[in-house]
Amino acid sequence: MITFNDIQIKFGDFHAIKNLNLNIKEGEFFTFLGPSGCGKTTILRSLVGFIKPTSGQILLSDRDITNVPIEQRGISMVFQSYALFPTLNVYENIAFGLRVKKMSKSQVDQEVRDIAQKVDLKEEQLFKKVSELSGGQQQRVAIARALVLKPSILALDEPLSNLDAKLRIQLRNELKSLQKKFGITTIYVTHDQEEALTLSDRIAVFNNGIVEQVGTPKEIYNQSQTEFVCNFIGDINKLDPEMIQNSRLKDFIDPQKVAYIRNEKVSLSPLPEHIDTIQLQGRIVDQEFYGLYTKYLIEVAGGGLLKTIEKDSGLDQTQLGDEIDMYINIDDILQY
Ligand code: ATP
Repeated sequence: MITFNDIQIKFGDFHAIKNLNLNIKEGEFFTFLGPSGCGKTTILRSLVGFIKPTSGQILLSDRDITNVPIEQRGISMVFQSYALFPTLNVYENIAFGLRVKKMSKSQVDQEVRDIAQKVDLKEEQLFKKVSELSGGQQQRVAIARALVLKPSILALDEPLSNLDAKLRIQLRNELKSLQKKFGITTIYVTHDQEEALTLSDRIAVFNNGIVEQVGTPKEIYNQSQTEFVCNFIGDINKLDPEMIQNSRLKDFIDPQKVAYIRNEKVSLSPLPEHIDTIQLQGRIVDQEFYGLYTKYLIEVAGGGLLKTIEKDSGLDQTQLGDEIDMYINIDDILQY
């Protein structure tokens, strides 16, 4: 549905987007993920029409929209700051775009009430000023204002980053169910890997103006294609060269490469027999109890440290200083 063809975006001499090729499917929840300054907002803004690419084409259902004005693209955007009108009430904020379109008063009224109900904004909230609302409610208004225009694409730029952690998770879930309810193609920008993993159908991981990997959350996490992606997504162990040399790991790891394993994939219990397992010995040098799980730091007998995480079974008797066995499935080792 959306195609970026050889997109380059320069600001003076600075190359913000180097050569982007990407396809986003209809109805997809697609996330641009990456650290600050990697270019994810820039590419979103080029899709919406705020920025014109230096070269390349953006296609929307095979129509070239690279030079089409913002208001003719059928894309609604929700900003990190919400960009609501603070002195207007909720109703007027939602109605704004419809009035610009010169819709009749009765139709505006029907559309505003309809969308407010769908995003769970109560009747009594409609006539409050937005400055009187909580962050979460303002976010709902911003989403209602975007959806009321019935866009074919919803573009969201870090829409949850101004909220506290608990509300962020609640709204994250709401956003996901709203997206499924409306079936609207959604492009979501975030630097938060957990947000990206939980919300997205697919993710593009950006780094320094290029896309390092495109894939489903599970592909990005379990089969990270580059060293950058494997470090950016989730906690991970880099395997120490000494540890590799002094164990059976050396039979599987290319000495020219760096090797990683996700923390939770270092198991403290034996793996099923059919799995080709490497067993290591070590000593617990640190442990943190989180209730649901415990994090361990283990000094490996052959050299180096490994972090692991184990769900708390209630039977765990391990103590600091204990000697312990670890089990690694060789297929879980990532090499770059
Ligand atoms: P953040 O999460 O911090 O917003 P981002 O990945 O969205 O990061 P962008 O806003 O896309 O990053 O910016 C990418 C790079 O382009 C940054 O180095 C930024 O300083 C630069 N940049 C963005 N807009 C402009 C502009 N109008 N003029 C010059 N440089 C810009």
